[in-house]
Amino acid sequence: MVRVGLSGGIGSGKSTVARRLAEHGAVIVDSDLLAREVVRPGTDGLAEIVAAFGEEVLDASGALNRAALAARVFTDDEARRTLNAIVHPRVGARTAEITAAAPAEAVVVHDVPLLVENGLAPAYHLVLIVHAELEERVRRLVESRGMPEADARARIASQADDDQRRAVADVWLDNSGTQDEVHAVVDALWADRLVPYEANVRLRRGFRPVDPRVVPSDETWPAQADRIVARLATATGHRAEHIGSTAVPGLAAEDVIDLQLSAEVDAGALAGAGFFGEDGVFDSADPGRPARVLLRREGSPEWVTALLLRDWLCAEAEARAEYEEFKLRVATEHVADGGTGGYVDAKRPWFEEAVPRARSWRTGRE
Ligand code: ADP
Repeated sequence: MVRVGLSGGIGSGKSTVARRLAEHGAVIVDSDLLAREVVRPGTDGLAEIVAAFGEEVLDASGALNRAALAARVFTDDEARRTLNAIVHPRVGARTAEITAAAPAEAVVVHDVPLLVENGLAPAYHLVLIVHAELEERVRRLVESRGMPEADARARIASQADDDQRRAVADVWLDNSGTQDEVHAVVDALWADRLVPYEANVRLRRGFRPVDPRVVPSDETWPAQADRIVARLATATGHRAEHIGSTAVPGLAAEDVIDLQLSAEVDAGALAGAGFFGEDGVFDSADPGRPARVLLRREGSPEWVTALLLRDWLCAEAEARAEYEEFKLRVATEHVADGGTGGYVDAKRPWFEEAVPRARSWRTGRE
């Protein structure tokens, strides 16, 4: 089973994407629907709401008057916290029940409108964000849902903004085009990433790219690593450090995010974040984002040296350029010899000379 978080601003097309995923066989957990279920007439959830807000949030039939309640909490943070404290734990419990009851090989998609606002992203193996431009969202809400334009704009303004969503998005699904276009993107995501990711998690195996090539630096690597660090922290209670070449802005690297994490962490906790392996090396099961965790004793010589080299290469442009040139040459030779191992070994002599230089750089700064 793999747990996917799906979100996006109102009118972005989140439900459209959820429906397409459901057609492929995903188990959808719709948190809006659950939030309504847990306060239906006769539930203890509704009883607590009445105890907190009074009978005036009920309609004539005794059901929750959502508009009345929304008006109460929209401008009152304290009231909103009270409401959330009633609804969120119940939605959480129902979500856990549905997830536990899903088949072992399920791709479980949690459709959560306020995933970003509630800081839930690190709890999922993968976060999908559906995006459409502001004016397009307003237009869709007005035209297809009959929402007054001012309401559409107010709802959009009360939610997270694009930057906040982008920060948690492992996959950014652009739904600015036609529905057919976004369906095609979802179809490919399903086949190429979600299905193999799920199988890897279920079979407890990491994904390791065969003979990864050195590629030009990607300015999104640090943000990608931040998301993995947050996911690992949630699963293990420890903070991983992004190390290696992808942690050095501007440096060409094999497209694998390397992290080091306290050796106190056990394999079970790493499995919760979708990392599997042995002998202190764990690979992410996600075939769309190769990442590797090295378990090390915090403060050990390897731990300290990895941070030192990273910081030195980040700070010293000349050292960075020299290392890049060296590794591109080694990588080319390595490809020329048919990729029969040896790339890591071939880089070792450079590191042996680099470590003392990095140490004197550090001493010079102290
Ligand atoms: P959300 O769940 O994010 O609020 P929906 O999936 O319900 O958004 O989409 C909002 C409205 O826009 C719906 O009526 C939907 O049919 C329509 N819609 C979604 N995607 C597109 C698209 N690519 N082109 C045109 N209309 C779309």
